[in-house]
Amino acid sequence: MTIRMSEMTWMEFNSKIKEGAVTILPIGACEQHGPHLPLNVDTVLAQGFAERLAERIGGVVAPAINYGYRSKPLSGGGPLFPGTVDLSGETLIRLTFDILEELIKDGVRNILVLSCHFENEAFVCEAVDLVTQKYGDRAKVLIANWWDPIPEEIISKVFDEVPFPGWAFEHAAVTETSLMMAMAPELVHEDRMVDTQGATPCPYHIYPVPKGAVPDTGVLAPARSSSAARGQIIIDSVLIELEKICKKEFK
Ligand SMILES: [Zn+2]
Repeated sequence: MTIRMSEMTWMEFNSKIKEGAVTILPIGACEQHGPHLPLNVDTVLAQGFAERLAERIGGVVAPAINYGYRSKPLSGGGPLFPGTVDLSGETLIRLTFDILEELIKDGVRNILVLSCHFENEAFVCEAVDLVTQKYGDRAKVLIANWWDPIPEEIISKVFDEVPFPGWAFEHAAVTETSLMMAMAPELVHEDRMVDTQGATPCPYHIYPVPKGAVPDTGVLAPARSSSAARGQIIIDSVLIELEKICKKEFK
């Protein structure tokens, strides 16, 4: 049987709920990712991790949210690139809340929200907090991403040629490019990869967002050394960790 909720009949979905299957809600973004990656990177990765995890734990993948909270200059390049289409915090909270509320009313008891866009986190937490305040222990909801569960030794394995720039700057750089090469190689334009000098860290935010706050390419750190093999190392280690988390939290 399919793991995609949207491809199930209501009866198939209902029987999965009754087994206590974990329902995974992937959340991405529509955001620039430099000259070599498409706008839907965060959604492709959220969906890709969700489907691989669901296969391992007998879970169900709900239709993804394809837009995310406003791109920030020093984690996603900011709003000044055509194609970056952002939601307000209020919209993302309401949208996530509504989907979670419907799932819980349907009887889903175990939910994992897998958000793969850096800027979403606070608003996803708010939605989950509000929905669990309303429904108490009718459901347990976890929030995770793919970067926090990566063990330290995997980071040094992946960054053996270029230095690790920190997660906020890992935008359209080695990890996202490598993951896309492993999960959706047809969407990667390797020949258009630029060896950008990288953005300069700034310890504060400026509004309105000034032009030139980040490199014109939209790449915040070099993607050099990216490969499908490095992507697969990340995928394997993240799936092990996410499976452990699900087994521990959803009994
Ligand atoms: Zn991204």
